[in-house]
Amino acid sequence: MNGTLESTLWDVIVVGGGNAGLCAAIEAAEAGARVLVLEGAPEPYRGGNSRHTRNFRCKHEAPLSVLTGAYQEDEYFDDLIRVTGGKTDEALARMTIRTSEECLPWMERHGVAFQPSLSGTLSLSRTNAFFLGGGKALVNAYYNTVEDLGVTVAYEAEVTHVAVEDGRVQGLDVTIGGQTARVEARALVLASGGFQANLDWLASAWGEAARNFLIRGTPYNRGAVLRDMLDQGADSVGDPTQCHAVAIDGRAPKFDGGIATRLDCVPFSVVVNRNGERFYDEGEDVWPKRYAIWGRLVAAQPEQVAYAIIDASSLELFMPSLYPPERADTIEGLGQRLGISGPKLRETVDAFNTACREGAFTPTELDGLATEGLDPPKTNWARPIVEPPFYGYTLRPGVTFTYLGLKVDETARVSAGGARLGNVWAAGEIMAGSILGQGYLAGFGMTIGTVFGRIAGQEAAAHVA
Ligand SMILES: Cc1cc2nc3c(=O)[nH]c(=O)nc-3n(C[C@H](O)[C@H](O)[C@H](O)COP(=O)(O)OP(=O)(O)OC[C@H]3O[C@@H](n4cnc5c(N)ncnc54)[C@H](O)[C@@H]3O)c2cc1C
Repeated sequence: MNGTLESTLWDVIVVGGGNAGLCAAIEAAEAGARVLVLEGAPEPYRGGNSRHTRNFRCKHEAPLSVLTGAYQEDEYFDDLIRVTGGKTDEALARMTIRTSEECLPWMERHGVAFQPSLSGTLSLSRTNAFFLGGGKALVNAYYNTVEDLGVTVAYEAEVTHVAVEDGRVQGLDVTIGGQTARVEARALVLASGGFQANLDWLASAWGEAARNFLIRGTPYNRGAVLRDMLDQGADSVGDPTQCHAVAIDGRAPKFDGGIATRLDCVPFSVVVNRNGERFYDEGEDVWPKRYAIWGRLVAAQPEQVAYAIIDASSLELFMPSLYPPERADTIEGLGQRLGISGPKLRETVDAFNTACREGAFTPTELDGLATEGLDPPKTNWARPIVEPPFYGYTLRPGVTFTYLGLKVDETARVSAGGARLGNVWAAGEIMAGSILGQGYLAGFGMTIGTVFGRIAGQEAAAHVA
C-alpha cells in the first residue's frame, strides 16, 4: 500500500477524512482529479468530530427538504453576529450563508438523508436540517460516495509535515503503520480539524487546568498539520485561548463522549464547586442560551469540577442523562457520595433555600422566580431543594473545538505572509476561525465545512486540470 502511495503523483491529496475533507474529495474526484485522502484515525473511528454532529444550519427562501418556512441571509447573518460579538469576516460569512442553500440538495445527491427536527429544548426545524442517523450516517454516506468515485483512502495515515518551498507544497510526510513515507501531490487540501485533542497545546494556552478538560470529540485532532503550517509562516486567524467548551457529565470519557454526555439540569439545580460553594447564577437564562458559558465557568473552579444538586421534584424536568445521578436521602449524604464536604453542602443549600421566595415556577420559560439577598443570586427557577431523595451530577468542561486556525480567502486558499500559497487550500475546523472569531452558532460548523470543503475540492481540481 505504502509503495503505491509513494510512487503516485496524486492530483489532489486531502488531509483529514471528516465532513470538510470528504466534501473536498468528492468535488475534486467528480472534476476528474486523482484523489488520495489521508485519514489519521483507524477506519472504525474515521470521520473526526463530524461523526458526532446532528445538523447543519441552512439558508433557504422557502420550505426546503425537511426545513420549514424561510430563513434568509440577513436573519442568518444577524444570528451569527450576535454570537460572535462582531468578530466575523462579513464577506466570507455572507458567502458561506448564501452557498449553504445549494449545499442541502448537493448533500442529498451524495447520500445524506435528512429527518425533521425533534421538538423540545432545541427546536430548530426552520434553521437547522438534521441528519437521519446523525453525523456518523453522513460520514458513512460520503465514504461510500468517494469509494464509488475511485478515491483512494488511507487510514491510520497521520500527516506529520507539509513541505512548503518557494510558496508551494512539494510533498507530505505521512506515518502509516509506524513507517514514514513522502507522498506528492499537485494540489493539497488541509481538512484536519482543530487542535483540541492536543492537551499540551491546550495547556500552553490555558495553563495546567486544561489537562482536566474532557474532549467531546475525536482524539485524532491534535493539530499536527496546523502547527506545522504555522511554524512555516502560514497566516493564522483566531485566538489560541478561544475554544468552544460546554459543561458535560464529569464521568464522560476523556475523548469522544459526543453529545450523549451533555447535561441539561443546571437551571433546576444549585451548582457548587469542590469547596461546596456556589459561584454563578444557575438561572440566568434558558439552558440553550447558557450551556456554552458553563464550560468556562467550571474550568475556572478548583480542579475544574463542579456539582449540580437537585431534589426529587426536578428529576423529570430535563432530558434524561446518560449516566444516572448520585442519589442520597440527605444533603450531607449526597455530599459524601460526590466527594465533597456534607456539612458545607448542607450550609450552602440551607442558605439557598432561605433565599427562595413564594411564586409561580414555570420550567419551560424565564419565570422570574428569583432568590432574595443571595450572592450570587439565582434569577429564575429558584425553588427550595427540600424533597428527598436528593440527586447530584458531576460537571466538567468539555471542549468541542478550538478557534486558532489557518486564514483563507473566499476560494479557501491558504496564504503565508499575505501571499497566497501556490497549491494549498483549507476547509472545515482548521480554517473556521476565518469566519468565527469567537462564540458559536449551532449547526454552523458543518455549514463552514461543507461550503469550504466543496470550494477547496473544486479549486484544487481546477488548478491541476
Ligand atoms: C460532540 C460534538 C457535537 C457537534 N455537533 C455539531 C452539530 O450538530 N452541527 C455542527 O454544525 N457542528 C457540530 N459540531 C462541530 C463539528 O463537529 C465540526 O465543526 C465539524 O465536524 C468539523 O469538520 P472537519 O471536517 O473540519 O473536522 P473533523 O470532522 O474533525 O475531521 C478532521 C479529520 O482529520 C483527521 N486528522 C487530524 N489530524 C490529522 C493528521 N495529522 N493527518 C491525517 N488526518 C488527520 C481526523 O482523524 C479527522 O477525521 C459538533 C462537535 C462535537 C465535538
